[in-house]
Amino acid sequence: MSSIEQISPIRPIRRISRISSQDTVDFIDDARLTALTAGPPPDPARVREVIAKSLAKQALSVEETALLVCADAPALVEEVFEAARTLKRTVYGNRIVLFAPLYIGNYCVNDCAYCGFHRSNLDAVRRTLSEAEIRQQVEALEDKGHKRLILVFGEHPRYSPQFMADTVRLVYSIRNGHGSVRRVNINAAPLDIEGYRTVKAAGIGTYQIFQETYHHPTYARMHKAGTPKGDYLWRLNGLSRAFEAGCDDMGIGALFGLYDWRFEVLGLVAHALHLQKTYNVGPHTISFPRLRPASGVNLRTGYEVSDADFKRVIAILRLAVPYTGLILTAREPAALRREVMSFGVSQIDAGSRIELGGYTEAGDAQARDREQFELGDLRPLDAVMRELLDDGYVPSFCTACYRLGRTGEHFMEFAIPGFIKRFCTPNALSTLTEYLVDYAPEETRVAGEKRIAEELAQLPDGSLKRQLIERLERIRTTEDRDLYF
Ligand code: SAM
Ligand code: SF4
Repeated sequence: MSSIEQISPIRPIRRISRISSQDTVDFIDDARLTALTAGPPPDPARVREVIAKSLAKQALSVEETALLVCADAPALVEEVFEAARTLKRTVYGNRIVLFAPLYIGNYCVNDCAYCGFHRSNLDAVRRTLSEAEIRQQVEALEDKGHKRLILVFGEHPRYSPQFMADTVRLVYSIRNGHGSVRRVNINAAPLDIEGYRTVKAAGIGTYQIFQETYHHPTYARMHKAGTPKGDYLWRLNGLSRAFEAGCDDMGIGALFGLYDWRFEVLGLVAHALHLQKTYNVGPHTISFPRLRPASGVNLRTGYEVSDADFKRVIAILRLAVPYTGLILTAREPAALRREVMSFGVSQIDAGSRIELGGYTEAGDAQARDREQFELGDLRPLDAVMRELLDDGYVPSFCTACYRLGRTGEHFMEFAIPGFIKRFCTPNALSTLTEYLVDYAPEETRVAGEKRIAEELAQLPDGSLKRQLIERLERIRTTEDRDLYF
């Protein structure tokens, strides 16, 4: 099967004035990706071969992914769903990692057509949280049981790499009873190489940058020329510069609804393969946010993604990149989140509020002029924990790999035989136990302890299991926390 470079010739471009990657390249060939999404319905036998390759845990090429994208016949779509569920079950197991977003500042010099923070939106209430306000928000999140946060910033000179790094250090320093934030990820503008070095020194986890749309003309329509975000290639190569600066934990994403979902899925796969091929490490995560209503935004693209197609997006991504985590956010309504979880989602946010200061100031209703877009799922963390437990998942707050320097962890999880049993499951169970002991109401505690007993029963007897049982007991009966393998 041909590989990505056969379908997307890499065109070197002139160096940009910011400290750029050594080889800024455009690895997205619009014409080629469009042709791949517009082919005749594929031969079902060929589609089944591709599904079988994925179930053998091999990443798919862009062309192979295109066959799944073009397989519209309901029976084939169902086969793709079933394969995604199988891959999720047999490869990932039943852990779901939980996190929460924390918006630090919404000043922004860009004018993205879809975002409530765009600079010409005069209705947006602009704010940057002070140190004291950040402390309040983090304490409120810790009080609920959160251990993993993603900090979100607009793009503005105020939010320099040094400011981000200082904010990350501040968040790590905030303790509240047994509460602490153990992993801080970032979603912000692409930086130059020096900038990434500065934020990496603060101990960040994943640096996420979403390309929004891989389709060049749509990108140009959504992002005003002359704004920093108007530079497609600066953004496309944003994570390449991060790798060159030593950050090897990267998240990519596309905003679904700006352009044809089929094209965007191929763009994401092309991006993942480019990083894998160039840096030998693929992205840690892929995000697939769907366009939501936002303050000062009245965008009709004609490419809005239906629920039925959204399910296909998730299932196809699961099959195309078997080793990459998939993040499903609270943009989506609760019922849909519950349904698509089984297609291979590995991380979700829960209890999220995205108004600036929202974790202490927001009421039940959302304040659209204070948030980037509207959320679809406002349930508190505990309600989501309960549902996950009821549905047979193990909610996890594990942060061990990144803290032990086991980055490229998604790779290790699968490349090292027994890694999930040896590390992931025990760490999921001990972080779940912390949650149950320190934060959960009685009903959740009972449901969680039942799940833990079921999971322990499936672990082979031996010293690891003994150690784990001893640690879980320590968490239940002493002040010891943060015990990880
Ligand atoms: N300012 C940074 C940037 O643009 O890279 C941070 C990104 S923003 C805070 C996080 C992501 O939210 C964006 O990359 C975009 O994909 C998504 N987003 C923006 N507006 C949205 C909307 N109306 N509905 C859903 N997601 C949206
Ligand atoms: Fe600014 Fe990001 Fe919103 Fe664009 S998506 S207007 S860059 S906050």
